Amino acid sequence: MENTSKVYVAGHNGMVGSAIVRRLQQAGFTNIIGKTSAELDLRNQLAVEAFFATHQPDYVFLAAAKVGGILANDKYKADFLYDNLMIQNNVIHQAYKHGVKKLMFLGSSCIYPKMAPQPLKEEYLLTGLLESTNEPYAIAKIAGIKMCDAYRYQYGCNFISVMPTNLYGPNDNYDLNTSHVLPALLRKFHEAKENGALEVTVWGTGKPLREFLYADDLADACYYLMHHCNEAGFVNIGVGEDISIADLAALIKEIVGYEGNIVWDTEKPDGTPRKLMDVSKLTAMGWKATTTLKEGIEKVYNQRFLQPT
Ligand code: GDP
Repeated sequence: MENTSKVYVAGHNGMVGSAIVRRLQQAGFTNIIGKTSAELDLRNQLAVEAFFATHQPDYVFLAAAKVGGILANDKYKADFLYDNLMIQNNVIHQAYKHGVKKLMFLGSSCIYPKMAPQPLKEEYLLTGLLESTNEPYAIAKIAGIKMCDAYRYQYGCNFISVMPTNLYGPNDNYDLNTSHVLPALLRKFHEAKENGALEVTVWGTGKPLREFLYADDLADACYYLMHHCNEAGFVNIGVGEDISIADLAALIKEIVGYEGNIVWDTEKPDGTPRKLMDVSKLTAMGWKATTTLKEGIEKVYNQRFLQPT
């Protein structure tokens, strides 16, 4: 990739896509293409074909997806399956048809079986049943990995896949019904502090363990792997450490400076008990995360809730 190459970042307004755009700009890339979903509906085969024919990108980061937290995944199963399959099928196929030099497909750690041994090694893919709350999303992402591999095998395309752990960062979703846990808790504790509320409700038992990666670290890893990874299969991207939801809630409470109580709503699902990535493949390729969880949460809290807009 040269910094004059034409790079299409699918999903450039999302948390991941916008972080990739920042990373490319930082490296001096001047020919970055992004389209909003209103400008280009990636589920529409003809529209995606026309886009590739017109713009002929050299490189593609496929960070566009329908994403959401545990409740959204559970409730909108059809949308998570349909939208994600359509988006990735259209983009990957047109990337092949229009001679894209390299494509990176981004998935998620929920592709792994619910009861896979921890930490999650890449080889555990398809060794057991998935977590039911996000099965449709996971099935779509697994299909994306297999699609990149199939196009590499059959057509010689240099399409690679990466599976990030749970992410947080600028441009995250703060809608309490559809967001992931970290932005939800930042918002809940911040609003409780502002309103002088006596308690904050956190879902589940607090026991599940999750790993969190700062979006700009993810973007740096993607940029690095776009230069250094050219193989079938996929690479986990994470920090290699996890934290319980109870400890995460305590950390966010402290960062926000909220002094009330935490109440656990055990009617809400816990989801998969643990999701910790094994990052030895990534480390061996030469990349490591640099932002600590505390630093990352402080940055996001400051940007999203404390800075005047
Ligand atoms: P998951 O990693 O796919 O399970 O997605 P989430 O980030 O949505 O949830 C992670 C864990 O945090 C689950 O055990 C949730 O029950 C728990 N959790 C606690 N409070 C919240 C909340 O306010 N929102 C969300 N999304 N999850 C929460």
